[in-house]
Amino acid sequence: MKIIKKYIQRKTLIYKTGVEYGDYTLNHVLGCSHGCLYPCYAFLQKKRFGIIDTYNDWCEPALVTNTLALLDKELPKFKDKIKMLHLCFTTDPFMYQYKEVQDMSLAIIKKANEAEINCSVLTKGILPIDLANLSKENEYGITLITTNESFRKKMEPGAAPWKKRLASLRALHDVGCKTWISIEPYPTPNIVKQDLQVLLKEVSFVDRIIFGRMNYCTKVKAYGDYKHFFNDRAAEVVKYCEENNINYHIKKGTITLHYKSADEV
Ligand code: SF4
Repeated sequence: MKIIKKYIQRKTLIYKTGVEYGDYTLNHVLGCSHGCLYPCYAFLQKKRFGIIDTYNDWCEPALVTNTLALLDKELPKFKDKIKMLHLCFTTDPFMYQYKEVQDMSLAIIKKANEAEINCSVLTKGILPIDLANLSKENEYGITLITTNESFRKKMEPGAAPWKKRLASLRALHDVGCKTWISIEPYPTPNIVKQDLQVLLKEVSFVDRIIFGRMNYCTKVKAYGDYKHFFNDRAAEVVKYCEENNINYHIKKGTITLHYKSADEV
């Protein structure tokens, strides 16, 4: 296990967001030890606004110590507005090997459920089986963009190995929890050569699959026919989900409508 070295306080916690997983979200940690190199949108934003200086600062998580006190104040206020409270938008709630972050996330979900608010969770860490004791209306998800462990290590250096991540999700599914997968940001073949069917088969037990293309990476555009590639992969996900009765959602911007190939232009 790793030790948290930085602690901060916040004035507010819950806020409204436009993400597809939940209408409200909270982030009880600043930074994320997973250090994804896609790159991480949250890191780019925090750097842009001067909240974080360097990548190394980002990878040293700072836990918000007054999280539970803020929740006690804010949950009654938001109770009737929130359809689904999402953990998290700019950090990872089950940060790999950080027990303090994981315990805080469990406490948050428990408090939200006690206030009759359901939670959705997305992680590149390990989902604890204790989540099975909380509301069965919660939705537990992991991000998985590859079944190639050396590529996973390269792109998500501090995150959990993909097999462990998936096994924790499967364990929750097996005891009746709602589960989902985010296949985002999916890379182009010049970044890694892989067969999406292999990944889809691995995750076929989940209730919902979210698929999205890789953005903010110069290598994607260097792959000439990347629009065509993402259109095809999105169609592959839709076909697989329809054939296997899995709910799905293709993220905005992944499919390019009325796309003309290089030969047609
Ligand atoms: S897990 Fe999410 S928040 Fe953490 S570094 Fe990766 S993309 Fe960023």
